[in-house]
Amino acid sequence: MVLTQKALIEWRSPWGFPIQVKQSALWFCILLIVAGGFDGSGWTMQFLALLFLATFVHEVGHAIAARWQNLPVKAIELNFGGGACIFTSEPNSRAYVMAVLGGPVMNLLVFVASLIALALSPDPQAQVALTIFTALNLILGLGNLAPVFPMDGGRMLFAGLIRILPFTLALRLMGAVGLVLVILWILGFVGWYLTGAHLLALLPAALAVPLLWSQALLIRGQSPFPG
Ligand SMILES: [Zn+2]
Repeated sequence: MVLTQKALIEWRSPWGFPIQVKQSALWFCILLIVAGGFDGSGWTMQFLALLFLATFVHEVGHAIAARWQNLPVKAIELNFGGGACIFTSEPNSRAYVMAVLGGPVMNLLVFVASLIALALSPDPQAQVALTIFTALNLILGLGNLAPVFPMDGGRMLFAGLIRILPFTLALRLMGAVGLVLVILWILGFVGWYLTGAHLLALLPAALAVPLLWSQALLIRGQSPFPG
């Protein structure tokens, strides 16, 4: 994430790589608590805890799939309302596609498990938490499949394009697809806000703004892949 690379908390996972909570994760929490209006109900805190849990589930999915494909995992991090699983691989290999798919697949598996738990749970308070968690896993599972780099769908699109196009042309095409989708996304949420929605409706639009820059670099043919 652009805001900071500093780790607030770091655990060493049983597999040797670190799990880090970046400082930007704290800023995201503060932003959401302030924008949510300190209602004191703890709803924002509960939402944040479930959001980071669902994000962690996603990154663990990447880590498991990467290790299954014998790709070295460097770290899992949680940052500004999102996360990352950092692993090294060639962007056109089968192992890479498997590791990229691991995140959304894990969210969709947890979505099903959490839906079953919701159906079986008699406790109203647990039902609220499970409903939010079920929805978050579905959103993260499907949303990350959007073909916008650096999201998982964008990475898979690139892995496909690189088989039929020269490297730079594949980058430019991926950037163009991403640019159109990011602009539509931003306009959609700004439009929703203008119809009278809460200020928080602007958050998904604001979060997508850095993606405009990434797409512009791709269209210019600048490779995001190391080496
Ligand atoms: Zn992912």
